[in-house]
This record gives sequence, structure tokens and C-alpha cells, in this order.
Amino acid sequence: MTYGLISDIHGNLEALTATLAELAGVDAFLCLGDIVGYGPDPGACVDLIREQPRLTCIAGNHDLAALGHYDLNSFNPYARKAIEWTKSQLSADQTAYLAPLQETAQVDDAIIVHGSLPGHMDYITNTDRAMDCFDAMSESLCLVGHTHVAEYYSNRPGSRVCEQVSLLRGGEILLEPGLRYIVNPGAVGQPRDGNPAASCGIYDTEARTLKVRRVSYEVSVVQEKMRRVGLPDSLIDRLTFGR
Ligand code: ZN
Repeated sequence: MTYGLISDIHGNLEALTATLAELAGVDAFLCLGDIVGYGPDPGACVDLIREQPRLTCIAGNHDLAALGHYDLNSFNPYARKAIEWTKSQLSADQTAYLAPLQETAQVDDAIIVHGSLPGHMDYITNTDRAMDCFDAMSESLCLVGHTHVAEYYSNRPGSRVCEQVSLLRGGEILLEPGLRYIVNPGAVGQPRDGNPAASCGIYDTEARTLKVRRVSYEVSVVQEKMRRVGLPDSLIDRLTFGR
């Protein structure tokens, strides 16, 4: 079984379209949250995601915020402005799709969550935060998004040693028996690891591999759309640098 891994699409239809082309042929999809927020095409991204085959989708903080189910005070002013705009763009039908999304799901031998465990919207940015998640998980694989940084952490149960590995240029993880992993396939629609290319993953449950791929797309097309609808300049500019 192969799963296409997508996370943090953030209303970036050009990045999502290029990513889905890259993932063509996978058996099923896992969406790790934040379909909307920041980008100019939130509704179209919801529509495109929901039609993917055998999709398991969980909610991110921006999805919850667009539903009015998340404290906007935890967002910076630019993110807040984008969320207010996003809310006004979603149809009743698209909102109804987001509304029942859960914060975690169990898929094969993996658990998926937007941010971390036990705090579902916590950020895993270093090995200490990764250990908090390892301590809370009973599975050997946890797939996360939220930081928009493609990377993975590995740990042997019982040990406090945790390895952090960047997937800035993509890469392949051979999942070793006896180790457990937290993998972030990176952001489709707003990478923040210094590589502006969209990021996605493929988890192969039989080969026990997890590949992360970086996919270039027409950033300037998205930026022009963002300008036209009046989204903040800082959100437009960051797509150029992947920061
Ligand atoms: Zn996000």
C-alpha cells in the first residue's frame, strides 16, 4: 500500500496541483491538515483534496480557525487577516466538509496528527519536542505537519537519544524495525525550510520506506492572485524564499 502524504496546503492551488501530479498512482492519500489559510484558493483546494481516492484527512489549526473553532489570538496579525478573508471565501458545502474533521487518525501502523502528541497543535521543532511526542505515542510512526519544515526524527524505545534529519532537498527514509519515527513531509503550499518548492511524501507500507519529494511550481502565479485579493505582502513574499 502506498500513501501520498500532503500537509499544509494553505489555499495554494498551483502547489497542490503540481504535488498531486507528482503523487499520481499512489493507492491512498493522507492529508495532515491546514488545507486553508494564507493562500488565495481555499475553496478550490478543499474541493480538490476531497476528491482524492481513499483519503484520510485531519484538521489543522487554520482549518479549525476558518470554522471559528480556534482562538485567533494565537495567530499573528497577517495569519489572522488571511483567516478572516478565508472564512468569507468558503461555501457552505466546503465549510461542511471541514467541520467534522478529527484532530488525529490511525492509519495502518501510523498515527497522524497536525502538530504533535499529546498537544495536537504543538510544534515539533527540535529533539526535545520530538521526545514529548515519542513519549505520548504507542505507534512506531507518527506523521505530522504544522511547522512547514520537511524533516524526520527517530528514536529507539527506552532510549532518550533522538536523531533529527533534514529533508530540505527531499530524501528517502528506510524505516528500520526497532526504531520509531516522527516524519514531517513538509508543506505543500507554504514551505518554511528555505526551499520554496512544494513538499510531499510517499509512505510505502510494504517496502517500509518513506520518501519526501520537492516539487517546483509557478510561485509567481499564486503571488499575483494573492496580490489581487489583497492578502498581506509578507505572506506573498515568503513564498519566494520558502521562509
Ligand atoms: Zn500550516
